[in-house]
Amino acid sequence: MLFVLVNVCYLCVTELLSVLLSDNDCSMSLLLSLSLPLSSSILFSHSLFLSLSLFLSPLSFLSPSLPISLSLSLSVCPSLFLCRAFKINELKTEVTNRLAMLEKRVELEGMKVVEIEKCRSDIKKLREEMASRNNSHFLDDNKKLTPRRDVPSYPKYHLSQETVEALRQPTFDVWQWEPNEMLSCLEHMYHDLDLVKDFNMNPITLKRWLLCIHDNYRMNPFHNFRHCFCVTQMMYSMICLCSLQETFTQVDILILMTAAVCHDLDHPGYNNMYQINARTELAVRYNDISPLENHHCAVAFQIFSQPDCNIFSTFDPEAFKQIRQGIITLILATDMARHGEILDSFKHKVDSFDFTDEEHVTCLKMVLIKCCDISNEVRPMEVAEPWADCLLEEYFMQSDREKAEGLPVAPFMDREKVTKPTAQIGFIKFVLIPMFETVMKLFPQIEDVMVQPLRESRDRYEELKQIDDAMNEVQKKKSENLTMGKKK
Ligand SMILES: [Zn+2]
Repeated sequence: MLFVLVNVCYLCVTELLSVLLSDNDCSMSLLLSLSLPLSSSILFSHSLFLSLSLFLSPLSFLSPSLPISLSLSLSVCPSLFLCRAFKINELKTEVTNRLAMLEKRVELEGMKVVEIEKCRSDIKKLREEMASRNNSHFLDDNKKLTPRRDVPSYPKYHLSQETVEALRQPTFDVWQWEPNEMLSCLEHMYHDLDLVKDFNMNPITLKRWLLCIHDNYRMNPFHNFRHCFCVTQMMYSMICLCSLQETFTQVDILILMTAAVCHDLDHPGYNNMYQINARTELAVRYNDISPLENHHCAVAFQIFSQPDCNIFSTFDPEAFKQIRQGIITLILATDMARHGEILDSFKHKVDSFDFTDEEHVTCLKMVLIKCCDISNEVRPMEVAEPWADCLLEEYFMQSDREKAEGLPVAPFMDREKVTKPTAQIGFIKFVLIPMFETVMKLFPQIEDVMVQPLRESRDRYEELKQIDDAMNEVQKKKSENLTMGKKK
């Protein structure tokens, strides 16, 4: 142990202490003997305290709980020099120990950082795994496809006459029903259209099939069982409104209704563009050709392959083939990438439409399912508007994921680029109205109940856009004025 006695003037004390205190590895005891005039002792004590406080302040930052209290008493009495020196020595030991403790804590904190980083990367891996599982499909998982044996009789879900009548209208409020009520409504439609009677369907199989359908829709913001219900209910109201049973065969009606029920089965909530760009299992399986629609079809027929859910069990093989082909054609027609092609083909036929021409009828059925699939804006504003929010939510979910995965993002899905009015105006003006107006040539009765609400919806969103634009203009001017004010 080295014993050093140093005489210093008070100006050098702080520097010495810093050196001494920072040298915490050295097992050196230092005795400071301060020869100071009594008159400066108070000043010195203050200065020393400040120096120590400053030196220790980073420590207190690192460990706010560390109590740092320094008390120095100074005296000119030589007998107290030693005592004071020992106090400083004690202080040095204490600080050295605390530094060692802090270093340990820093080391531990460092380990925690490493742990946190590891947790982060584990979470990322788990997320990716979950995402990829979301994209893997029923073919590996038969759980949901197993039909339920305990078909409920729904005494609680008996439909009132009022509901039965409202169900035939495009104005039906699709939001006020829980899943079992929607299932009862779908069941009612099959009975009401005489499909159960005409095709000798087992009514219990119909119930079981519908339950299985419900179980195979995912809880997406938009592409969920309620959307399936909406599309089917719109199909039912179009069949009623356009008296399609007078011009179509019952097989056509069965194809239209069943394709509507099955058209988005097991939709993962990310569209074909995502599937193709992210090279998902679905895109690989279907070679980038309508991966989702092919998948919805495949799931539908996986369900029919279960005897307990096969509503077509009474059909002979030829009839089943026809039904199967019809349903596949309609579900594949719901891919919006084919919108122009299908509508053009229909436009060529509509002026000389022939209900006895199979090609004409198939084309009309394709257009009808397309109309129903995107028919939310036909509904009253209070029913339609929540759907626009649901769709945007699903789009934003996709674009956020595309950004995170470095994939291309469609502007209409980008939360930074799209607003509800702009998205709706374009869609109503350039997709919905032209399609419904073409169908109107064949069925003029849809003008008042379907086309007119679309025009009103377009006008309402245009007004909303004007308000949005005006608000943005005001906001822009405000921020410009603010910048000008700052510059001044
Ligand atoms: Zn759909």
